[in-house]
Amino acid sequence: MSQPALKARTDLILRELNIDPDVIAHRTLPYFEEVSEHLLVEAETDADTGKIYRLTAPATQAWREMKQQAAADGVGIYLVSAWRSLDYQAGLIRTKQAAGIAPEDFFTSLAPPGCSEHHTGCAVDINTPGCDEVTGIFGETGAFRWLEANAAHYGFAMSFPPDNPWGFIYEPWHWCWHPAK
Ligand SMILES: [Zn+2]
Repeated sequence: MSQPALKARTDLILRELNIDPDVIAHRTLPYFEEVSEHLLVEAETDADTGKIYRLTAPATQAWREMKQQAAADGVGIYLVSAWRSLDYQAGLIRTKQAAGIAPEDFFTSLAPPGCSEHHTGCAVDINTPGCDEVTGIFGETGAFRWLEANAAHYGFAMSFPPDNPWGFIYEPWHWCWHPAK
């Protein structure tokens, strides 16, 4: 799908959520294709909750290799989010709406459906034991410093550094695997 087609799909979902698409018109948000579910494989299972995190096969392989090397270096990293469908993203927005939060506020940290890199099956949210990733203090952990030094070797890049052009908050926990060019 082209970017205009993807944008039209997002606008439609926003209207279904009773959100005026104009609320994000001033942002230069990227639109992402939703990967077909049959291309996803199980990347990791949360040992406590049993929740299954899925990524594409190449992203899964890269994640596992990176995690293995991190562990060998004494750094624990694990997934707290991976692939998300457009429906799931819409559900996250409904939760914010139910809490009475305005779209212009939650869209700084939550992507509109269609604008989340998690739709690609290549993006991951990472945490490390003893850290609350949601507050952003993940950026002060040894695990983050390890990722800064090593993630690129496995094809992972931090998507939203401080002052990123899309107007998302700094997300040190969010990384995306990109195929080698
Ligand atoms: Zn993320």
